[in-house]
Amino acid sequence: MIAVADPVSILITGTPAGKWFLYGLLYTLFVGIMGVRFIVKYRHNRYQVVRTLSVIFFQTAFAFIIPQILTILQKPYIDFKNIWPLDYSFFFSYKIQEYLNNGTFGFFMLGWGLALMLIGVPLFTYFFGKRWYCSWVCGCGGLAETAGDPFRQLSNKSLKAWKFERISIYSVLIFAILMTLATLYSFFTEQNSVLGIDTYKIQSFYGFLVGSILAGVIGTGFYPVMGNRVWCRFFCPLAAYLGIVQRYKSRFRITTNGGQCISCGNCSTYCEMGIDVRAYAQKGQNIVRASCVGCGICAAVCPRGVLKLENADPNSRIKTNPVLTGNLNNQ
Ligand code: SF4
Ligand code: SF4
Repeated sequence: MIAVADPVSILITGTPAGKWFLYGLLYTLFVGIMGVRFIVKYRHNRYQVVRTLSVIFFQTAFAFIIPQILTILQKPYIDFKNIWPLDYSFFFSYKIQEYLNNGTFGFFMLGWGLALMLIGVPLFTYFFGKRWYCSWVCGCGGLAETAGDPFRQLSNKSLKAWKFERISIYSVLIFAILMTLATLYSFFTEQNSVLGIDTYKIQSFYGFLVGSILAGVIGTGFYPVMGNRVWCRFFCPLAAYLGIVQRYKSRFRITTNGGQCISCGNCSTYCEMGIDVRAYAQKGQNIVRASCVGCGICAAVCPRGVLKLENADPNSRIKTNPVLTGNLNNQ
């Protein structure tokens, strides 16, 4: 199978393909082909068309072509759009050593990763919500929005799922933080263990559980069972980080014109994050939820034009219909 990718690999890198080249090629082709299908389906919606072109571009250029070019130049392989803690190995000793061994370029890589994590995420999320990453840039989001589109209505809308989501996603974030602290401790002290636990074993366990099982097997393999955003909704630690900023300090919200809503429920059915959009629309209440990835499908499928994705004044975050009370934004 790997040999099938040889002609493309030789064209780009001048060398035969390896298994990771084949993986990257298939992933990129999948996003591209299913992305075109998605664009045709939503061709009358500019937001959906531009957003899909964006994820295809970031997957093709940033996740596939640029890393290959860096390999040809004998530079470290890097996906410049990957951000810690999604990029959980960013602080691993061999990576830090790689940055230090690569002079100016290595320092740039280190600085770029830190700047994205510490400045880029809060700043862009403040202005645009987590959609700037989850629905426009991320490779996992790119696959979910294109190849996963036929499954978006399968997301679980129950209260139980929402409660599980809050526990699971923040648990993975805490695990990522603890694993990274152990990694940095080992790097700076040159001790192989923390509190008697082998740091390498913590990293391996994280890689197996989160990287392989939750992100790979369940996160992608279970699209036809649990919907297309299983990973993003329940487990992605970067989505958790972006979500905290979006919930408490962001200009992004979905505004609703409650008077126009006919309660058809299309928005709730097609929300891939399992948000009961209709309940907000019926109350004429703005949607400010940590989990919303700003895919805009709720607005696209609404027959009455009730929903609008906006970046507005953070002080007008919660609008409540004076007749109907109740504050769903506390969820
Ligand atoms: S609320 Fe709308 S924009 Fe947000 S995730 Fe659900 S469908 Fe997408
Ligand atoms: S799709 Fe539009 S009209 Fe239908 S329930 Fe949602 S907001 Fe109301």
